[in-house]
Amino acid sequence: MAEKITMSAAGVLNVPDNPIIPFIEGDGIGVDIWPAAKLVLDAAAKKHGKNIEWKEVLAGQKAFDETGDWLPDQTITDFREYLIGIKGPLTTPIGGGFRSLNVALRQILDLYVCLRPVRWFQGVPSPVKHPELVDMVIFRENTEDVYSGMEVEAGTPEAEKLRTYLMENFGWEIRPMSGIGIKPISKEGSERLIRASIKYALDHHRESVTIVHKGNIMKFTEGAFMKYGYQLVKDEFADVAVGWDDCGGKPEGKLLVKDAIADITLQQVLTRPSEFSVIATMNLNGDYLSDALAAQVGGIGIAPGANINYVTGHGIFEATHGTAPKYAGQDKVNPGSVLLSGVLMFEHLGWTDAANDIVRALEATIADKVVTYDFARQMQGATEVKCSEFAAAIVDHL
Ligand code: NAP
Repeated sequence: MAEKITMSAAGVLNVPDNPIIPFIEGDGIGVDIWPAAKLVLDAAAKKHGKNIEWKEVLAGQKAFDETGDWLPDQTITDFREYLIGIKGPLTTPIGGGFRSLNVALRQILDLYVCLRPVRWFQGVPSPVKHPELVDMVIFRENTEDVYSGMEVEAGTPEAEKLRTYLMENFGWEIRPMSGIGIKPISKEGSERLIRASIKYALDHHRESVTIVHKGNIMKFTEGAFMKYGYQLVKDEFADVAVGWDDCGGKPEGKLLVKDAIADITLQQVLTRPSEFSVIATMNLNGDYLSDALAAQVGGIGIAPGANINYVTGHGIFEATHGTAPKYAGQDKVNPGSVLLSGVLMFEHLGWTDAANDIVRALEATIADKVVTYDFARQMQGATEVKCSEFAAAIVDHL
């Protein structure tokens, strides 16, 4: 009998060997990559005595076609009830009342951490000389910043009202016909994100956490984020972690928490990647940084991600690319992103052996030069296979 994953009062996930896990197949190439990923995930789980009962939940185009609703309430209810789920990419509805279904899911379930591990897998074609030096885990704040959706359009009465208010009350001059957005960065929102990144770094024996911000310019938002982080180290982690300023750069056996300005970070993750391990940053910086880093290790076709609330236990693991509509239904694209999101989910569930097996089998398949089109076009002597064939080859290596 399949069972639910639950969360104990102490905040620990209880994971049965036969959990019920909701999945959203995803629009566009979702029909190709989800079955391929599922094949591998099921095989690896089975090898280690586990069995997942997948429960389909609807969102996106498929939900709209079947229910008239882009994000049915039942989907939210199921994610709330079963705690952990996985999803393919979703079409952003135009005029559907949503800015983005992904953003809506993150906000409704308050999934405040966007977790993006970025590492290179042996054999994956990369545009840089030393992709093996990239091994970073990005903690991107998911609920605040300019993504909060508080924007008014230029020329509307709302924009004019806000512009006038800011002029009269703050003396801020904003040109007429300006769109205006609000960038909230709260103490609570910053602390919970940075706390999660520090705990992760400690649990995974990582060397450092780098707080990435643009606080030299945006002092009370991005600058405050950095200050909250350093204060948090002192208040909650003084026995195991130390801030850069407090140790002169020598952490003496403790986790080092440092900071870096966002623009130079984008250079240095390219020029000296080994200096970065765990990164904690706000929503917009995190968005840019994760895609830039994904490019260094093989592109978005294999970049995994997760959205997590470590307090409630909710987590949705997801492909980080979009629906790539031009390839939909062709059994062509790389299933790596959703598959590796499944691997991340296995790690989160404590199924480390199954997760490691999949990574090993994926690397063995790539070493055979049996790859999908996106890798084949960058590799000499590769055998290009379909999405489903790539998954079958990985299963053969398990
Ligand atoms: P996209 O779907 O990510 O595709 C952009 C390009 O990335 C593709 O043309 C392809 O490159 C490459 N690519 C994407 N997935 C791949 C895979 N699995 N294997 C190999 N290559 C892959 O971006 P888009 O065309 O800008 O967006 C399409 C739709 O997706 C939009 O409706 C957007 O809103 C939505 N979207 C959803 C999510 C999400 O649900 N998380 C994220 C982003 C965008 P080549 O052309 O070079 O082969």
